[in-house]
Amino acid sequence: MTTDDDSLRPATRLVQGGRRPEWTGDPRLGGGIVNPPVWRASTILYDTVADLKARGHATHDKLYYGRRGTPTVWALADALTAMEPGAAGTLLYPSGVAANSAGLLALLSPGDHLLMVDSAYEPTRAFCDGMLARLGVTTTYYDPLVGAAIAELIRPETRLIFLESPGSLTFEVQDVPAITGVARARGVLTMIDNTWATPLLFPALAHGVDVAMMSLTKYVGGHSDAMMGSLTATRAVWPKLRSAAYQLGQAVSPDDCALMLRGLRTLDVRMQRHGENGLVVANWLAARGEVGRVLHPALAGDGGHAIWARDFSGPSGLFGFTLKGADEGARTRFIDALTQFGIGFSWGGYESLVVPADPAGIRTATRWTDPDPLVRLSIGLEDPADLIADLERGFAAMTA
Ligand SMILES: *Cc1c(COP(=O)(O)O)cnc(C)c1O
Repeated sequence: MTTDDDSLRPATRLVQGGRRPEWTGDPRLGGGIVNPPVWRASTILYDTVADLKARGHATHDKLYYGRRGTPTVWALADALTAMEPGAAGTLLYPSGVAANSAGLLALLSPGDHLLMVDSAYEPTRAFCDGMLARLGVTTTYYDPLVGAAIAELIRPETRLIFLESPGSLTFEVQDVPAITGVARARGVLTMIDNTWATPLLFPALAHGVDVAMMSLTKYVGGHSDAMMGSLTATRAVWPKLRSAAYQLGQAVSPDDCALMLRGLRTLDVRMQRHGENGLVVANWLAARGEVGRVLHPALAGDGGHAIWARDFSGPSGLFGFTLKGADEGARTRFIDALTQFGIGFSWGGYESLVVPADPAGIRTATRWTDPDPLVRLSIGLEDPADLIADLERGFAAMTA
């Protein structure tokens, strides 16, 4: 069993990933365990001083000290690397935000210039405007629809272009190959927040990206009970990320890694169901008189549909819609009336969630001018007929 076999198809790699014999069994015990056990450790004991000294430079797959991981941690990192064709390795962080921040810190220095997509997840912007600004890194926000015209925004000191597609809250689809093509030609690195799609629906490195980030908290975990983030990178960038992660002391719990590995094994079937259920609900919403527009790139009428259909192999279950002519009170009545959708942040779990979304105040390069209130849905694994009946209840409460 190997995790590095590129000939295997994605669903098979999800099943095989990280299950190396040396991490799942001990030859002296004569067998193997299906799942890499939870190896908890801070201290690692050495036989001799010579052994201790020799191990000082061990990094990824020799026990050294708990902070550098144990086989449970390495198994998750390996399985995530195997999902992303062209990747050299994966680093794990305690949350998605920690992964984004660590990646930006690793790749940027004082005086550098960063191009950040205007539809980025809000805490990513907060890091750019806060800590990166304090460290002398300048950020320019750019229109997610910029495409190859990103070339005009590149300065001599531009080191990194950050992408997120579809965008947070508003779901604009970026022309990733156009942007990464320009970036490669100009010697600028690219990093993408790929949480919405995961490499199953959008293999980012194959589209020219250097670093792919995921909040594993969402679809990989899939059960709303653990937080983690990952960076998966090319051979050129990965040593830099690893060195920064070590310097920052980034470490994750083997128990949480076991939860993430459990989620990962079923990711392919869950994503298919999230995507199908999401489309059923999105199409139903699109036909409702109470709805202004549905922000879902898999719908033929969506502005990002053509690029999405070219680059993505399917939809996940997260999208938005506006309430036509409604006000804040109506949106609140609608959401409060729902019984099958939990009101809560995060997404990608097996259960459906709803939140009000207000993008206008978190855009600077573009303007969000739609006056209709926006609602974001994370469609879970329920029967979509029950979700639709619930949304119908919401509309009734809204217009009552
Ligand atoms: C949730 C989220 C994050 C942050 O992940 P956490 O694990 O919650 O820190 C980053 N990017 C996107 C697009 C997200 O939705």
